[in-house]
Amino acid sequence: ATPTAVMVATGVGANHGVLVKGGDALERAQNVKYVIFDKTGTLTQGKATVTSTKIFSGIDLGEFLTLVASAEASSEHPLAKAIMDYAFHFHFFGKLPSSKDDIKKRKQEIFSQWLLEVADFAALPGKGVQCLINGKKILVGNRTLITENGINIPEEAESFLVDLELNAKTGVLVAYDSELIGLMGMTDPLKREAVVVVEGLKKMGIYPVMVTGDNWRTAHAVAKEVGWHSHVVVLVYIGMQVGIEDVRAEVMPAGKADIIRSLQKDGSVVAMVGDGINDSPALAAADVGMAIGAGTDIAIEAADYVLVRNNLEDVITAIDLSRKTFSRIR
Ligand code: ADP
Ligand code: MG
Repeated sequence: ATPTAVMVATGVGANHGVLVKGGDALERAQNVKYVIFDKTGTLTQGKATVTSTKIFSGIDLGEFLTLVASAEASSEHPLAKAIMDYAFHFHFFGKLPSSKDDIKKRKQEIFSQWLLEVADFAALPGKGVQCLINGKKILVGNRTLITENGINIPEEAESFLVDLELNAKTGVLVAYDSELIGLMGMTDPLKREAVVVVEGLKKMGIYPVMVTGDNWRTAHAVAKEVGWHSHVVVLVYIGMQVGIEDVRAEVMPAGKADIIRSLQKDGSVVAMVGDGINDSPALAAADVGMAIGAGTDIAIEAADYVLVRNNLEDVITAIDLSRKTFSRIR
């Protein structure tokens, strides 16, 4: 392709909300063999909601939510934000929310009246958060976080968790003063276009892969949902595979980049689509890094492409554009 063709393609991309940083990235996209999707915030909307709570110790729901929300107040994670909304609703209206309410303005003001003082806050990527409340350690996050701290997960809690996960929900565990005090089930719906985009990539001869820090049961349930649309019955009947079959779960942030590098070993061109801070090493390692426009600044910086519309269809737009610009058969 001539420099002019590259310039034109860059402009066409920009008009569609596909920003590409340079001709090299534009050229590499034509040969993409694998597209690695981050789960939370990329395939899913990144707008989680709490669907259930279960409390094991003597505390009541209000006390429980106060503890959890206080611990999560400084986290940027989508799960943390959803927990804050849930707790806010409970304390403001005296009942659990029945739907999403938009009361952002008064939120901070009211929160400050009842949130507990937190010391030594730390966000632990891929795991959760930890801090001190009343001099005692509180942990909010996944199994790894809890067991790493030497805290036992009772049988009853484990079976509740498994049940959530089989239903594509993320289980968030809460430990206070070295004891598991409760669990929350959370759901984050798929982006509407996820199904079509995954199918579209397969038709282009590209392998979709899902990578996530979330646990494998939830990840597999979500990957199956990606194949869930009106044709699913017919496709299963004629023996076609639907959804994302290649799922890599319970991957720590550094592990996402390792997965990219292992796929690149045989010379395959690998694209990564992500939104979070923990996706940035993988976005940088990929031949074609694509950041979701609504993602964190660090992810956007590490990527070659920015998909400003936050629409996964633009993954296909970007690859198409490269194929059309650099196609040898013209
Ligand atoms: P993904 O790779 O799907 O974007 P992350 O790596 O951000 O997921 O997180 C992995 C897991 O760590 C989450 O599914 C959740 O169980 C736990 N986690 C991370 N941050 C938090 C938080 N602030 N509160 C609760 N759980 C968290
Ligand atoms: Mg993410």
